[in-house]
Amino acid sequence: MKLLILGGTKDAVDLAEGAAGLPGVQVIYSLAGVTQNPNLPNCGVRQGGFGGAAGLQDYLNAETFDAVIDATHPYAAQIARNASEACAAVNLPRLKFLRPPWTSQIGEKWEAVADIPAAVAALAGEEKRVFLTIGVKELATFEQAAGVPFLVRYIHPPKDGGSLTNAEVIVDRGPYTVDGERELMAKHDVGVLVSKNSGGDGASAKLIAARELGVRVIMVDRPALPAGEVIGRQSDALTWIRELN
Ligand code: NAP
Repeated sequence: MKLLILGGTKDAVDLAEGAAGLPGVQVIYSLAGVTQNPNLPNCGVRQGGFGGAAGLQDYLNAETFDAVIDATHPYAAQIARNASEACAAVNLPRLKFLRPPWTSQIGEKWEAVADIPAAVAALAGEEKRVFLTIGVKELATFEQAAGVPFLVRYIHPPKDGGSLTNAEVIVDRGPYTVDGERELMAKHDVGVLVSKNSGGDGASAKLIAARELGVRVIMVDRPALPAGEVIGRQSDALTWIRELN
């Protein structure tokens, strides 16, 4: 069985290694190629876009895949749509592998917003420093929050090298600890945290630290998923593969 795993997250790397360890399963792990020094699984790897849903469809046909797991990040909406469309067109089974979102706990001051522009709107008039942990893709949209001071953290700078004008910048790919996040937010006098709801343990330390410090949290909702089966646990995804094989 030949399986394409669309990746770009730590969970996807772990899943690819688990799947590659199953007897009779050949795994190709695909990356967009936007991250420098990405984590890679111990299996076949390809990098770069396919050229939209039609390009992905051609690739699936040419490389004779039997199934696709879309294990991309919850906010990677375009590739999720493309995978859905391409798999439907070539009649291949497709699974969305997606960790569950975080849920707010008592004492957390979460404000859910629909998307990045809504997060920017929610910052109108904010005078306290705003900690942005949303990656680089939509960073420029925050220029519209006039006068708001930012602390920006990303794992590598935007391709154009630019960041926000009114920002202090930290380049750090983690891992992050609650103590480290608390220290960082206190040092920079952070009053607001803007986060995507990535879920999982890897990035949750900032939320715990924010709760402890009474920092306001603006949580950007996940985009809608294409219809289809969704699995959150690696063991269940491996069962899905075994049952196809
Ligand atoms: P996106 O907006 O959904 O996709 C943009 C384009 O990038 C897609 O149309 C596709 O190009 C290409 N692409 C995306 N993922 C790919 C993959 N795994 N293999 C091959 N091509 C891929 O995605 P994004 O939000 O820019 O994220 C890009 C990558 O970073 C994804 O792999 C995602 O898992 C990872 N990531 C994203 C976030 C986030 O917050 N969005 C956070 C952490 C990691 P073509 O149309 O040319 O095929």
